[in-house]
Amino acid sequence: MKTIRLNTNNDIPVVGLGTWKSETGFAYNAVRWAIKAGYQHIDTAPVYGNQMEIGQALKDAVNEGDIKRENLFITSKLWNDAHAKEDVLPALRETLEELKLDYLDLFLMHWPVAQDKTSKELVSLKETPLEETWEQMESALDAGLVKSIGVSNFGLKTLREFLPKVRHIPSMNQVENHPFLQQRELVDFCKNHNIAVTAYAPLGSNDRSADMKREDEPSLLENAVVKEIAERIDATPAQVLLAFQLTRGLIVIPKSVNFARIQENLAAQSIVLDADDMKKLSSLERGYRFIDGTMFKGADYLPETMWDV
Ligand code: NDP
Repeated sequence: MKTIRLNTNNDIPVVGLGTWKSETGFAYNAVRWAIKAGYQHIDTAPVYGNQMEIGQALKDAVNEGDIKRENLFITSKLWNDAHAKEDVLPALRETLEELKLDYLDLFLMHWPVAQDKTSKELVSLKETPLEETWEQMESALDAGLVKSIGVSNFGLKTLREFLPKVRHIPSMNQVENHPFLQQRELVDFCKNHNIAVTAYAPLGSNDRSADMKREDEPSLLENAVVKEIAERIDATPAQVLLAFQLTRGLIVIPKSVNFARIQENLAAQSIVLDADDMKKLSSLERGYRFIDGTMFKGADYLPETMWDV
């Protein structure tokens, strides 16, 4: 399995299994199948509502000898309603309990957004600054509860303002990324600061619920350029999309609950795209977000400032 070295000297496998929308009854098998197929990296979050099931799958996989804990790379996240100082470590402990783990390999701040623990109302970042939440995540790192810490959904402006205020530079920024939204400036900024980038929704996140989708959404998997390359090099459209990101030096976490597609996505590691095909895929850029953050509109969160555009 190919890996990328993080700024904590830990190695993250470049292909991981995404688990958002992996429903009860499906998440367990997806994780077991993925590990049997050779995945070592699993991405989850408390807000996905499946950590108990994933934890059971991880425990059974280790107990049945499919993999050793030290060869797994488990990422989870801090949800918006646990940003208050006193809530960060308890939220992490709950996640560890659900996942039946002693430590996480990577702990991410899920969004640069704070919500009240009880009412779930948005809380201004002036009241609950990102760096205060981060300080608690740093203490989890110091205590050995997590091996690396990072952020997610941080745009350039947020990251530029955040970095000078923190003791430990994030190891990761996990953001939406695919040919329609390549975020080249953000990716370059992260690389220059030794922050690895994980591409979420690398296949277009087509299984989102209807209320999260627009009627006229473009399709990555059905895109003519992607399909033409796939047919020509004897790969699938999904593999072309994943290979595009791997060639750019990003990590990918495609979600699937289907055994054949889980295998197919892992095999994208060995797909070679030439410079011409990379150029064709790069030309698909159109600044299109499948997950645009508008669900957090209010307080001092505005979609137009969330992504610094
Ligand atoms: P993806 O882009 O991974 O797309 C998932 C969809 O693609 C599912 O419908 C899946 O169906 C289908 N699919 C998977 N493999 C293939 C294939 N080979 N060919 C055709 N279709 C395929 O979307 P996600 O939004 O799930 O993103 C991936 C992961 O990133 C998430 O699961 C989550 O872990 C993380 N994420 C993080 C976010 C954050 O805020 N930090 C936000 C969004 C995602 P099926 O399961 O039936 O195979």
